[in-house]
Amino acid sequence: MTTINYPVDHGEIRDAVRRLCDDFPGKYWQQCDREQAYPTEFVQALTAAGYLAALIPEEYDGSGLPISAGAAILETIHHCGANAAACHAQMYTMGTLLRHGSPAQKQKYLPQIASAELRLQAFGVTEPTSGTDTTALQTSARLDGDHYVVNGQKIWTSRAQHSDLLLLLCRTTPKDQVAKRTDGLSVLLVDMRQYSDKNLSIRPIRTMMNHATTELFFDDMRVPVENLIGQAGKGFRYILSGMNAERILISAECIGDAKWFIDKSSAYASERSVFGRPIGQNQGVQFPIAKAYADMRAAELMLHQASRLYESGENPGEEANMAKLLSADASWAAAEACVQTHGGFGFAEEYDIERKFREARLYQVAPISTNLILSYIAEHVLGMPRSY
Ligand SMILES: Cc1cc2nc3c(=O)[nH]c(=O)nc-3n(C[C@H](O)[C@H](O)[C@H](O)COP(=O)(O)OP(=O)(O)OC[C@H]3O[C@@H](n4cnc5c(N)ncnc54)[C@H](O)[C@@H]3O)c2cc1C
Repeated sequence: MTTINYPVDHGEIRDAVRRLCDDFPGKYWQQCDREQAYPTEFVQALTAAGYLAALIPEEYDGSGLPISAGAAILETIHHCGANAAACHAQMYTMGTLLRHGSPAQKQKYLPQIASAELRLQAFGVTEPTSGTDTTALQTSARLDGDHYVVNGQKIWTSRAQHSDLLLLLCRTTPKDQVAKRTDGLSVLLVDMRQYSDKNLSIRPIRTMMNHATTELFFDDMRVPVENLIGQAGKGFRYILSGMNAERILISAECIGDAKWFIDKSSAYASERSVFGRPIGQNQGVQFPIAKAYADMRAAELMLHQASRLYESGENPGEEANMAKLLSADASWAAAEACVQTHGGFGFAEEYDIERKFREARLYQVAPISTNLILSYIAEHVLGMPRSY
């Protein structure tokens, strides 16, 4: 796949993932993309090989691997030209259940997630009116006997049509009755299989890349109290506690994308001949690729630092956010260089570049936008005043 000799960790896992990805070449992804179809076969193959259970502890029948192994899996998928967005969430949403769920909840769900009997792929936080301002979300859950009654709406809930379970953040105490805006939010683990379309309506949203994202409408959806994760009112903290893992894993996908673009660009620049010499002999062609490579390697170091701190039990908020920021920027710069290097062919579907270009753009916005990471660094690392 590549002539560039990248120094890597978890080499055996990467080799095995690469072999799996060989069965899903560009043509497979092109067809899924054209039809906005879910890559069911790919997700089944990943699941069967145990990769989606990589981070679930062994006591719950997972592999109990560290986050750097999860990052290696996702990076390799993207480095191979594939896309893990169809299933990556299970790796990090599972962490909320693992860290904050009761022993009974963990025993009930985690082994079934590990064995693929249950899919926990959906994560409902964003709403149309609140957007990035999570504490302004309006979906409510009112206690009625031994159930919560949920009403409201979510948007951009990805993979909801391909998941059994949904991790849902909703307000259980109205904002005007809590001391802090971050209080009064709760996390419910919703088993979506049991609801009619009236109580839970899922509508797909077509996007510029194939992402299986949806909007959800809740109308008196009754969720058993036993599906509350942790304590009522503390949900915002539980969701925040999963953000480092999410940032690290998404950063790894961006690094994989950047490597794919850089491999493609440097190979093409060396073989494509115009004016009687390889285009890569021109510095105007070389330099953007070389710069993207340097940016990617720097971002990769930050990713490794974030993973190391995470694995030693520290809180790498700064490093995980910076890894996500730098690797999303590096993959986008590499995407841009790749299209430019390929000239007109960069726009042709069969080269996969235009598809990967559209896919790479997402990470400037989701799961957290570049601006919000910069705000985090300015406020929490540099001590400047809060800007919002
Ligand atoms: C394909 C896709 C999949 C997604 N999947 C999920 C999912 O599975 N679950 C889920 O819960 N969410 C999901 N999201 C939502 C995603 O996390 C949000 O789109 C993202 O957090 C930005 O929120 P928003 O779209 O409401 O933008 P807004 O909050 O409306 O912001 C719009 C722009 O303004 C900027 N902005 C806003 N406030 C500030 C500020 N104070 N300072 C500086 N800039 C600011 C933002 O950076 C952004 O660029 C997904 C989004 C997409 C597009």
